Amino acid sequence: MSQVTELEFQAETRQLLDLMIHSVYSNKDTFLRELVSNASDALDKLRLESYIDKDLGADTSDLHIQLTVDAEARTLTIADNGIGMSRHEVIDLIGTLAKSGTGELRRKLREAKDSAASEELIGQFGIGFYSSFMVADKVTLVTRKAGETHATRWVSEGDGKYTIENLDEAPQGTAVTLHLMPEDAENHLFDYTSESKIREIVKRYSDFINFPIRLGDDVINSQKALWTRPRSEVSDEEYTEFYRHVAHAWDEPLEVIPFRAEGSFEYQALLFIPTMAPFDLFMRERKAGVDLYVKRVFIMDDCEELMPEYMRFVKGIVDAQDLSLNVSREILQQDRHLQAIRKRLVKKVLSTVKDLQNNHAEKYQTFWREFGRVLKEGLVNDFDNQKTILQVSSFQSTHSAEDLTTLGDYIARMKDGQDRIFYMTGETREAVENSPHLEAFTARGLEVLILTDPVDEMWTGSIPEFDGKTFQSIAKGDVDLDSEEERKAAEADREEQEKQYAELLTWMTETLTEQVKSVRLSARLTTSPACVVGETFDLTPMLEKMYRSAGQELPVTKRTLELNPKHPLVTGLRDAVATRKDDQALKDTAALIYGMALLAEGSELRDPAQFAKLLADELTRSFAG
Ligand code: ADP
Ligand code: MG
Repeated sequence: MSQVTELEFQAETRQLLDLMIHSVYSNKDTFLRELVSNASDALDKLRLESYIDKDLGADTSDLHIQLTVDAEARTLTIADNGIGMSRHEVIDLIGTLAKSGTGELRRKLREAKDSAASEELIGQFGIGFYSSFMVADKVTLVTRKAGETHATRWVSEGDGKYTIENLDEAPQGTAVTLHLMPEDAENHLFDYTSESKIREIVKRYSDFINFPIRLGDDVINSQKALWTRPRSEVSDEEYTEFYRHVAHAWDEPLEVIPFRAEGSFEYQALLFIPTMAPFDLFMRERKAGVDLYVKRVFIMDDCEELMPEYMRFVKGIVDAQDLSLNVSREILQQDRHLQAIRKRLVKKVLSTVKDLQNNHAEKYQTFWREFGRVLKEGLVNDFDNQKTILQVSSFQSTHSAEDLTTLGDYIARMKDGQDRIFYMTGETREAVENSPHLEAFTARGLEVLILTDPVDEMWTGSIPEFDGKTFQSIAKGDVDLDSEEERKAAEADREEQEKQYAELLTWMTETLTEQVKSVRLSARLTTSPACVVGETFDLTPMLEKMYRSAGQELPVTKRTLELNPKHPLVTGLRDAVATRKDDQALKDTAALIYGMALLAEGSELRDPAQFAKLLADELTRSFAG
């Protein structure tokens, strides 16, 4: 006799199950879509596996999904003769939450107290196999993996535990039996033993599935691959359900992109841009989103060669006519055809985004909010499409607190004689808005782009211009904002100033020689006494911080300290230095001015304790005054 082992679900899984059981999710029919989708994946995997491994010995002559209802026992069974699972895999894949390990999901689970929140959560994370527990109070899964003799039975009542047991025999593949809860209109529970209800659900959600779905002896789906049908003949609903199947998602596609290439190398693609970013979009181990088919036969999921990293949000399939069925990932990396496909698809996705931007403002805003940060990675990685990516990008700007701007619109608003696109990078909008560097720009009414995504630090360092206009960081280099006449008028002024301040600048450069490259007068300050600026090719403070936190050793970049010649602190220091050069208190003041400039731009002080001490001393002296 085989032994029955009782195991506990992992904590998050338990919470998730609880949520499913008590959810009033209004669309409970979707459990069947999820189970059929899993069965279809299992059939795809078996077909491929037996093609690769001729010794597998699995029967692939009649791959199908069988649905069986037993009205008396109130059960519904979804069976496939696909790849199946080993005992170990059952524990791994079914006993633990496939999409676990994310703080995000855990946090949301904790917060999802009311039903509206749980409804949203289910929709957002997409809850595959566990959706069974929306309609069943007990689920039995019997599975035998292709090539193995032993089978496994898994049973759970969704109460935090499950049992697992070895069986001597079972048909190859997986059968999931749902012990259905009683019908209950209030909780959106229908009679899932009704054949007509089952037909209706399959037709609605799973018609395109590539294998026959049988109810009794009838095949109840058309099995027509969506991408082979003309767009005009496919309804939005059909696209949505297909998207949910390939993307393992529950949201709506924001945009459907059908694509067909004819000629010497034929292929079809059906791509989707989701409405919601998946929670793992920025996680290292996350997968690509496009599956590869050859002549309608599934070859692999998440084919990295079909989409660049920065388009990892794109979901869908590519069906190539002339590839060998026998392709491996290694071969694919070299494949010229695939590289050509990828090139075309990237252009197609970018032109779709452009179309959203020009003709569907609201959709574009959703797209940019969810995926803009990812798309901008292409500015660093995809040289060929840099210009297009810049065109379809949006940025925060001092022009408006709410609305984003495109570069095109920025250029249209540029002042007479302005030949550069001004920007500043920083951690937050507030940090940039409060930074002293912005003062002169605000005073002159010059618009500055506010770039706060980490990736902005990267591309701004490598892209010199857009549409003939140079990008200029307002925190770097020398700025000269005046017009020709203003400049001439200021010239005399400045010469006089330089004379007046020469001694202070030399003294202060010496005093702060460890920290700064030099000290000079500033044209960018109106109210602050000082700011720190980098050279055009210096790392920005934020980029330095990013590298350091990633564990990289960096040489210290010395920047330039700029002083506001009109600020009383600066004039006061100038006059004091003229008489008492060696005074320690004055040196402390110089150090304090430098520290304040760092704090004002949001940088960290190298020695905060020392700064605090200097400040305390200075304040004490002011009383002693
Ligand atoms: P997802 O399909 O998004 O991976 P699911 O919760 O639907 O998440 O399924 C979890 C995993 O369990 C699947 O990835 C698959 O490995 C395994 N699985 C589920 N159903 C089957 C089945 N019918 N045959 C084989 N494996 C299955
Ligand atoms: Mg699934």
